Amino acid sequence: EAKRRGRNGMQFYNQQIEQQTAEIHRIEVQLRGAVERGELSVHFQPLVSLASRQVRSAEALLRWTSPVLGIVSPATFIPVAEQRGLIHAVGSWVLDTAVDQVRQWRAAGQPDLGVSVNVSPLQFERDDFVAQVQATLQRHSLAGSALTLELTEGSLLSDFAASNIKLRELRALGIQVAVDDFGTGYSSLAYLRTLQVDIVKIDRSFIWAMQDDGLTFVEAIVRIAHHLKLRIVAEGIETPEQCCSLQTLSCDLGQGYLFSKPLPSAEFLAFVQETNRATQPDAAHALPHG
Ligand code: C2E
Ligand code: MG
Ligand code: MG
Ligand code: MG
Repeated sequence: EAKRRGRNGMQFYNQQIEQQTAEIHRIEVQLRGAVERGELSVHFQPLVSLASRQVRSAEALLRWTSPVLGIVSPATFIPVAEQRGLIHAVGSWVLDTAVDQVRQWRAAGQPDLGVSVNVSPLQFERDDFVAQVQATLQRHSLAGSALTLELTEGSLLSDFAASNIKLRELRALGIQVAVDDFGTGYSSLAYLRTLQVDIVKIDRSFIWAMQDDGLTFVEAIVRIAHHLKLRIVAEGIETPEQCCSLQTLSCDLGQGYLFSKPLPSAEFLAFVQETNRATQPDAAHALPHG
């Protein structure tokens, strides 16, 4: 009896793996050429100063509508792109599109707006990564200070020394580096002391846990990050209560559905124009003290 159940269990397991492999294959086939066929687009989600409510920058988030598969989430197709060697073409396209977009917004009367781009560990790993980013900025005549690259803890820490060399080169170009989904990986604060980064993005799971017993944890991250002269972004803010707590903790920037979902570029610009007209720039920008 146990043996029979065991064998059935194994059969079920094999079936699951086969289904997953077929699904990955279907995505891979459709994703090949998706860039050329114009099926990809980038949406932009505002990053808002919690002190002033001014929009400071946008996170570029990839969107794919396949004529065969329909809307596919990046959480589904990015891992496939990584597994099947398509992430380099896709990643270059996103970077190019985002850099071109922020240059256009700046020319359209938003000279201080920045953009953040997510970078896969496989892109960051490449020897020519820094050169590729630099070439993209040059192609669009954009200052490095307009660009933030978002990397995950795993990506940054898999080879600490090699990462830090690249991070120094990126920062020498004026580019800012953010640790994305902070707290979900190694969950160690110690490495922030020596890692060449500018921004810590606290994962939304911690923002959501604040109402239970997570407040002290977020407070500790903010304190340590500020002590290290890093800026803090809170991801996934959905309620005014979350926003209020984070503001009290002096968290610098917020991102989440409370402010806005990711938007197509034209809607994003309209959102910035409206929001930044209705709010005052941060005191630090306007006055020597205040
Ligand atoms: P991420 O970089 O952590 O991006 C934030 C994700 O949280 C986005 O999901 C965003 O739409 C979602 N989000 C923002 N605010 C809220 C909120 O208030 N509540 C909730 N529930 N969710 C919120 P999205 O766009 O589905 O992207 C998922 C992940 O896919 C990203 O997580 C990132 O890891 C990856 N990704 C997206 N675009 C790219 C890309 O161009 N390149 C790479 N390598 N990865 C990308
Ligand atoms: Mg991100
Ligand atoms: Mg994130
Ligand atoms: Mg996240």
